[in-house]
Amino acid sequence: MYTISKETDSIVLICRDCSHTERVNSFDERLGSSRTQAARAMQDHSREKHGVGSVLKSIPKSLLSHGAVVTSQTNNLTGK
Ligand SMILES: [Zn+2]
Repeated sequence: MYTISKETDSIVLICRDCSHTERVNSFDERLGSSRTQAARAMQDHSREKHGVGSVLKSIPKSLLSHGAVVTSQTNNLTGK
């Protein structure tokens, strides 16, 4: 989704799918952890521009149940 780059004066989140960046320093600490805000902003960007945020979150559960269901269904179908 993104990589984290440490620069001399700030931490920068860099999108892996385009050149979009979020600078941790550009977020206001008074509103909460600026690093968390930057991560959230990058997640929003990924979801809006690349459609990955919501998908990534649901992958662990859906992959497990989905894969199991698909596999057993396939086995049943071929078995019969
Ligand atoms: Zn991007």
